[in-house]
Amino acid sequence: MSTKPQDASPYTIDANAAVLNTLPFDDTADFEDASRGYIGTWDPPLQITNEKGKTVWTLAPYVDQTRDAPCPPTVNPSLWRQARLNTMNGLFKVTEGFYQVRAFDMSNMTIIEGAEGLILIDPLISCECAADALRLYRELRKRPDVKVKAVIYTHSHVDHFGGVCGVVDPEDVRAKRIEIVAPAGFLEHAVSENVYAGVAMIRRAQYMYGPYLVAGPRGQIDSGLAKGQSVGRISIIAPTKTISQTGDTIELDGVRIEFHMTPGAEAPAEFDFYFPDHRVFCAAENATHTMHNIQTLRGARVRDALEWSKYLNEALDLFGDKTDVLFAQHHWPRWGQERIASFLSKQRDMYRYLNDQTLRMLNKGYTGIEIAEVLEMPQSIAREWFNRGYYGTVNHNVKAVYDRYMGWFDGNPARLHPLPPERSSSKYVELMGGASKVLKAAGAAFDKGEYRWAAELLDKVVFHDPTNTKAKDLLANTLEQLGYQAEAGPWRNFYLMGAQELRDGVTIPSDAPSTDASMFSAMTLDMIFDSLGARLMGPQAREHILMNWSFTDTGQHYALEVSNGALSYVAHVRAGADVTVTTTRSTFDAVLLGQLSFRDAVTTQKARLEGNVGKFLEFLLLLDDGDPAFPIVTPRPDIEAAWKGKDRKPPKDPASSEADLVEHEGMSRLRRFLAELPKGC
Ligand SMILES: [Zn+2]
Repeated sequence: MSTKPQDASPYTIDANAAVLNTLPFDDTADFEDASRGYIGTWDPPLQITNEKGKTVWTLAPYVDQTRDAPCPPTVNPSLWRQARLNTMNGLFKVTEGFYQVRAFDMSNMTIIEGAEGLILIDPLISCECAADALRLYRELRKRPDVKVKAVIYTHSHVDHFGGVCGVVDPEDVRAKRIEIVAPAGFLEHAVSENVYAGVAMIRRAQYMYGPYLVAGPRGQIDSGLAKGQSVGRISIIAPTKTISQTGDTIELDGVRIEFHMTPGAEAPAEFDFYFPDHRVFCAAENATHTMHNIQTLRGARVRDALEWSKYLNEALDLFGDKTDVLFAQHHWPRWGQERIASFLSKQRDMYRYLNDQTLRMLNKGYTGIEIAEVLEMPQSIAREWFNRGYYGTVNHNVKAVYDRYMGWFDGNPARLHPLPPERSSSKYVELMGGASKVLKAAGAAFDKGEYRWAAELLDKVVFHDPTNTKAKDLLANTLEQLGYQAEAGPWRNFYLMGAQELRDGVTIPSDAPSTDASMFSAMTLDMIFDSLGARLMGPQAREHILMNWSFTDTGQHYALEVSNGALSYVAHVRAGADVTVTTTRSTFDAVLLGQLSFRDAVTTQKARLEGNVGKFLEFLLLLDDGDPAFPIVTPRPDIEAAWKGKDRKPPKDPASSEADLVEHEGMSRLRRFLAELPKGC
């Protein structure tokens, strides 16, 4: 019988109480800013549903997070403060003609009243949320028929465009009635950032945002950036106008906007912008009320703290002395030129400090882990609420900066080729006198509040023997106390998700959100073929395959070559192909999305195969699937089994043995497919 979520230990209570004495809780300016201009919201709890009645976004678990609600002992008071600010929801007036709907999803939707209609900035993650946000505006502003004239996507992350089809009819975009403006590279990055490593990122994002934790004082309370992520329909409409130069100025529905390009910092394609006729600056997601991630813990390429700092310096230089209102696409705005300049300069200094001090110390020979342990922000920066580590943290951002410049290896050859945890853990546990001795030591560490050490010991026992329930329970209790003390929403969620998985195993509801058709259609063929390359079971792909692909609707031609287990391509056909596939892009999309089987595409003549059909089928069968529910806090069963075998040999890639290819269920699919294939194709 596994343990259940526990109370805060005396050490956690002390640690959280100490936070109250170290941070300026009497500075409540953020609460004034977050409530300024409040117009209204719907009766609590806010609940947004899809057409089937399923809830895609709700603030019901957070109704107790009122402004004056006392901090539970199981929550870091600084995170509790941020959580209460992020719960404030509804329609807010930012300044004359500028409105925001907040907490109707993870991000803000900003609404600007133009000459004839509305300009929307960032239509949230889900269509349902975006539609309701616009409905709230129309109701409370009593403008039921006001039309959307333009949409701006500030950057390529899904919480800034996914709900667009909830507020815009794509037909209006095609007919040029609605303009869609985005930074250069938007479309490519919007769909590519999560494509290649998407399965693993989705799995780790469950740890980062904690959607399957029970919300509440012992569970999920906030992500630092917002409450969480909605789970409705995600869509995309390609921009009709892209901006690529700083200083480019356009007029949308009578509103002049001057752009400042910021690619490669918070997102690979991003801009912020200035409204010269209003003295208003939209900081996009470059400056919000948190230290942001140099590396997001769900997994992504490391970002560039130096560039980030330089962009903020540039924004300060360009607009800092002529801005009276700053708003961003998360959190609440700031008012007053001096407060805004101070905000931008202190966020600039924070990222620069992270970058430069990490470099200074690594040049003395400190490793990433060592720098993260000692680097502290100057008090003048660290005590500003907007620089606290609610989303990124000093600790993991320092490691990210180290990684950006130096990579994963710390230079010590004793750590160049370590045994994997599944193997070394057993050796450690044996050396330490067996699991019960390690458990005893871990228990003593837990009782002294040494949770980081207890976690390290217990991780060894669990990876040595994942059936050891006592070890898993104590590790769960340990991670939980670490979560209760965390100031960062993602750290709290990671710890509590780890605890939950140790107690209950991997539990993912079957209706978890998946890839959306419009997102898929926005991918280029290069991206699709690259992602197929990343699914190819290399060890089994021994035969050379050359395929020509022709897409009759788009006029594109590709030659794909499987050679030595690797997939390459060129964007034209090649002579001597084993097989030629002729189809349309829309059929191809339907097949890849699983809406149409390839066999049905062939029988209905939506796809034609000529040449050696067997080679083509072999290629399809060589495509592997990811595992959307892989274990994180326990060893992968196949790796563990290999090490536990009598030879204690390293595991093999499951796609590597001859027997696997013959027995792979794909082979029976192949035989079935061949038997059922219509003649003459
Ligand atoms: Zn965002």
